[in-house]
Amino acid sequence: MYIVSSCLCGNPCRYDGSAGQVHKYPKIRELLAQGLAVPVCPEVLGGLPVPRPPAEITGGRAADVLQGRARVVNIYGDDVTQNYVEGARKALYIALQAGCTKAVLKERSPACGVRAVYDGTFSNKCVPGEGVLAALLKAHGFEVISDEDL
Ligand code: SF4
Repeated sequence: MYIVSSCLCGNPCRYDGSAGQVHKYPKIRELLAQGLAVPVCPEVLGGLPVPRPPAEITGGRAADVLQGRARVVNIYGDDVTQNYVEGARKALYIALQAGCTKAVLKERSPACGVRAVYDGTFSNKCVPGEGVLAALLKAHGFEVISDEDL
């Protein structure tokens, strides 16, 4: 079973209210059709609305966010760290309940990014790193796959 970023499944939960382009992901369509994909949006699970201001990790990496040593802030400077931590924990719980051992997540999101995230300056620059959910899933032994590797 796979936990999958909900936006990649065609659900309009992205910060700007858009959905991912599910037609680009035949593997995800296949998993959904077989009942092997569990869509989750950790940002929405954490209580954030759709649409919402974009947010980025600042002051450290996702693992630091989980340990209270770095923050997630939105473009207006509001601290949304707790939303990201709670959303990731809820998504992990759902994944474990469903028997998932793998994840397919959307690259560059502060929650779902697998190899890269934006650098915290809101200047469209990426740095190596991962989102808060990706870090939590990896810490619990999940195989985490970037949508860009499908
Ligand atoms: S948090 Fe993840 S699932 Fe939700 S919109 Fe962002 S990339 Fe998609």
